[in-house]
Amino acid sequence: RVLADQIAAGEVIERPASIVKELVENSIDAHSSRVDILVEESGLKEIRIIDNGDGIAADDLAIAFRRHATSKIQHQQDLFRVQTMGFRGEALPSIASVADVTMITSTGQEAGNLIHLKGGELIKQQAASARPGTDITVKDLFYNTPARLKYLKSPRTELSRIVDLVNRLALAEPSIAFSLTHNGRELFRSAGNGNLQQVIAAIYGNSVGEKMLPVEAEDPDFKISGYLSLPEMTRSSRQYMTVTINHRYIYNFQLTKAIIAGYGSKLMVGRYPIVVLDVELDPLLVDVNVHPAKREVRLSKESQLANLISSGVEETISQVNL
Ligand code: ADP
Ligand code: MG
Repeated sequence: RVLADQIAAGEVIERPASIVKELVENSIDAHSSRVDILVEESGLKEIRIIDNGDGIAADDLAIAFRRHATSKIQHQQDLFRVQTMGFRGEALPSIASVADVTMITSTGQEAGNLIHLKGGELIKQQAASARPGTDITVKDLFYNTPARLKYLKSPRTELSRIVDLVNRLALAEPSIAFSLTHNGRELFRSAGNGNLQQVIAAIYGNSVGEKMLPVEAEDPDFKISGYLSLPEMTRSSRQYMTVTINHRYIYNFQLTKAIIAGYGSKLMVGRYPIVVLDVELDPLLVDVNVHPAKREVRLSKESQLANLISSGVEETISQVNL
């Protein structure tokens, strides 16, 4: 009960991009090496995610769509050292309650299975042939909650949120091959060969990718690595700065500030660098249970990390001008 209450912050399924996020994070947690994302009409008509991960065994399939059915936490203290992306066991039941969901999945050890739910009701579950992995289709999003439909932005904006999200996931996980297709047209693809610079080039263009500077720094608690743009290759928006913690995309104002501080006076006012940084740390130092959307995290030793980032960035930038 306590555990359930601690978990019950309420998953945020407010728009197509939040569904893509939850489903792709499940694919990542299931050790997939490739994840294909197919979207129709900005996700309102259909979102389909195909992965080659662990799959779900027949016995676990219906349970996975029940509230708080997570396979990812066994004990209360696990909540404070969450390493996987999901841990609330709310995404699948939440999504199934506001859409028409079909999942076909196989562990590779047994024949595959299909489950179909609509508006939270189980429609059918049966054996079905499937390749190892999981293929989930979410149709008619928010068909039974018109208020949420009304709250959505234009289809173009909703699609751009999906594109941005998939880009960040690909930057966070260069070893996973992602593809994003909208209305039959491929918008993005990453090779999944672990080469972060190639992912940066695929998103921001080859001319950016080629000129990025590698940055690395570490202290006893943190290890940071990634790429920085030259001070003259900047943008007018902060959104080209991606910070991931243990390969999970997060937003933390102090860390963004630390990057900018590292550039110092070399950065013109109102200009922001293109940055992709991953921070490796002991999961005990991060509390991801602050925000239901899990994008904001609380960090122990935050100012120590900010200092490490600033000095790492400063050192990298100063070397170029020599
Ligand atoms: P959580 O991710 O918080 O555990 P979800 O509702 O997102 O909860 O998923 C419920 C469970 O279903 C997961 O714990 C996992 O065991 C299983 N699952 C969901 N998606 C996948 C997938 N793509 N591959 C393998 N297992 C999955
Ligand atoms: Mg999940």
